[in-house]
Amino acid sequence: MIRVFQVKCATEDKKEIEAQLLKKLHMPTKDLLSWSIHRKSVDARSQKIFFSYVIDAKVKHERKYLRHKDVQPRPNEHYQPVSSGHHPLIDRPVVVGFGPAGMFAALILAQAGYHPMILERGSQVDTRTQKVHQFWQTGQLDPECNVQFGEGGAGTFSDGKLTTRSKDSRCRKVLEELVRFGARSEILIDQHPHIGTDAFVQIIKNCRNEIERLGGTFLFDTALEDIQVKDGNLVAIQYHNVWHPCTAMILACGHSAKDTLLMLHAHHIQLENKRFAIGVRIEHRQDYINQAMLKEYAHDPRLIPARYKLTYTASNQKGVYTFCMCPGGYVIPAASEAKHTVINGMSYAKRDGTNANSALLVQVDESDYGKAILGGLAYQEELEAKAYQMAHGYAACCQLASDYLDHKISTAFGAVQPTYALGTQFVDLNTLFSNPINQALHEALENFEQRVPGFVSSGAILSAVESRSSSAIRISRDPQGMSSIFGLYPSGEGSGYAGGIVTSAIDGIHSAEKLIEYFEKPQYNL
Ligand code: FAD
Repeated sequence: MIRVFQVKCATEDKKEIEAQLLKKLHMPTKDLLSWSIHRKSVDARSQKIFFSYVIDAKVKHERKYLRHKDVQPRPNEHYQPVSSGHHPLIDRPVVVGFGPAGMFAALILAQAGYHPMILERGSQVDTRTQKVHQFWQTGQLDPECNVQFGEGGAGTFSDGKLTTRSKDSRCRKVLEELVRFGARSEILIDQHPHIGTDAFVQIIKNCRNEIERLGGTFLFDTALEDIQVKDGNLVAIQYHNVWHPCTAMILACGHSAKDTLLMLHAHHIQLENKRFAIGVRIEHRQDYINQAMLKEYAHDPRLIPARYKLTYTASNQKGVYTFCMCPGGYVIPAASEAKHTVINGMSYAKRDGTNANSALLVQVDESDYGKAILGGLAYQEELEAKAYQMAHGYAACCQLASDYLDHKISTAFGAVQPTYALGTQFVDLNTLFSNPINQALHEALENFEQRVPGFVSSGAILSAVESRSSSAIRISRDPQGMSSIFGLYPSGEGSGYAGGIVTSAIDGIHSAEKLIEYFEKPQYNL
């Protein structure tokens, strides 16, 4: 099999694609035995829109075609399960958290016959959805079950972007399993695949059912409260105030489980501070973004709703970037702690909302929050509490981007109407952030307005505070994937080794593999 890059074609018609493939390789039809699309992207940079395909093909005289500069042997992307280790595993392995990392860790353990037990502090996804909507409608927050916590993890109420720069071969396994659980098969070939919050809910349920079918057990509304360590080894875990023996646990608790991270710190587990980012969510009209990004193609159904990604390095050396852009999406209340305001964004599968939103983030490090371990978490918490106070509740702290630059409290929205469900409060965001953050945001906005006219002046709204885009700490891991406590495998975004749905899922697989490689396949009497 060969992989052919850059097969350009004006249409999505299969006959036309095949014709372009044959033409590109100067290949007679009889040499082409079969072919399929590996990846598809749309290119609108030139005068005409065209699709650029990566094609996998079975051909005669393979060596001849491999001489072409755009042809390579097709890599083997089939997932290879790892072999079991030789150390006895007395108790069932535990997976803490059922976000993307926990889902895929549990799935791999279940597929390998390890019958994992999954502890999830939040509720099953249907109950969770009700609790989240109740918060969005009434402001009544359940600190154990919300946008950050509950079955499916933090990505459940999201745009479900699956874009990743990871070259890890486990990426294909993640996408294929998502398709098996109900995602559109296009995610396997799209350059910018996305799922949407509505579709994600069913995928999560199907994944849970499959893990149960393979012998996994779920405990929802059950938080890991504490761990017991003997001679550096994990020996027991506590939930519902009761101790249970446990020698191997994958901890995939995400970056918002501060109580869990504090508990680890109390057990002197090795943690490191890490650079993360804070900022605002910026909201535009989607039709403005379509026009600004696509120009003459602004109404082309193959390209809309348009996306964007912008970066800037400020004169104080702070990196500023847009992140997690949600075309046709909604700005959402995403708090997990009472009296703290957290903003994020999501969209539905159709991405057909009036507005576009994106995080606009500034990198922060120990120069912003000090050297104390967990200083980053305290810094996040302080900003979220301050935002809550400034808005007198869970309303978003809002300001027109142009007024932010002028240090003026806005008095009315313009062309863009906010989508945030819990109301808005006009504030001067310059008083929320520190000077270095404000300086970086001001310079970046001025720069983006020059590069994309209207980025500020089209009535763009800033909402704060966007504080949970990445983990503020890293839990150190050894080459066996374990923390400084033997048998405890930190995994996913909360461990500081992943960011985003796909990389967290990949990391979950990685942790499960490490556990399997060390511990013998158990013979349980279930
Ligand atoms: P999480 O998803 O955070 O899951 C951790 C789980 O552990 C949670 O379910 C939590 O309830 C549980 N837990 C925590 N503590 C305990 C405990 N003590 N005991 C038991 N259970 C516990 N990424 C993308 O790639 N694309 C997007 O479009 C995107 N949009 C997003 C939109 C929103 C609103 C949010 C909040 C995030 C978004 N992200 C997106 C980021 C993405 O969701 C995360 O990177 C990803 O979910 C991290 O996966 P994880 O499994 O490591 O952790």
